[in-house]
Amino acid sequence: MNSPPATSTHLRPDLEAHIDRAAAAHGHLCPGTIVGVRMALLGLSLLGYEAPLNDRDIKLVIAFVEIDRCLADAVATTTGLKLGRRSLKFKDLGLLAATFLDLPTGRAVRIVSKDNARALADLTAPLSLGSHERQIEAYRRLSDEDMFEVTWVEVDLPEHELPGYSKQHAACERCGIGIRHRREVIEDGRTLCAVCAGKAYFTFVK
Ligand SMILES: [Zn+2]
Ligand SMILES: [Zn+2]
Repeated sequence: MNSPPATSTHLRPDLEAHIDRAAAAHGHLCPGTIVGVRMALLGLSLLGYEAPLNDRDIKLVIAFVEIDRCLADAVATTTGLKLGRRSLKFKDLGLLAATFLDLPTGRAVRIVSKDNARALADLTAPLSLGSHERQIEAYRRLSDEDMFEVTWVEVDLPEHELPGYSKQHAACERCGIGIRHRREVIEDGRTLCAVCAGKAYFTFVK
């Protein structure tokens, strides 16, 4: 895939409505919310979709968010994609970035928030504002090119990561719990859940 088409640099008329929805869902208006809203709008438009995705299109797109911060909530609200529907994937990379994958075509676009957008925000927004407000103000207006690095990528998404996947439940041979989505661990020929295999994120209270 070649470089993406140039994007518009003027304010989208519906941007404020998307920001309001995202801020309400997230709990406050912050720079990351605006970054996430604009990331989602840009990603969906590059794939040819409207935001939020309608009932038909919502089954056709997967978003991967690379950080569990404000922008992740904004991507979820703006697209309508959801963790619980397996259409929103969290990849814990600590990066202000998200990828939008079009399932029918396999096209995927990764959008990274440029670090120097923050410096640009300080230059473009009124100096009378505090730095938080300057970012909020500037991130509404900076061009997509100033805000984001856009790259077409390929995402290898195996069948068991897709929404709706429900085949092949395994059972843990130690504790008996049902294991979904191929998360079983094979240890010395035994099928174990992650907890019994020692890969839990917690420890039991003694
Ligand atoms: Zn926030
Ligand atoms: Zn187990």
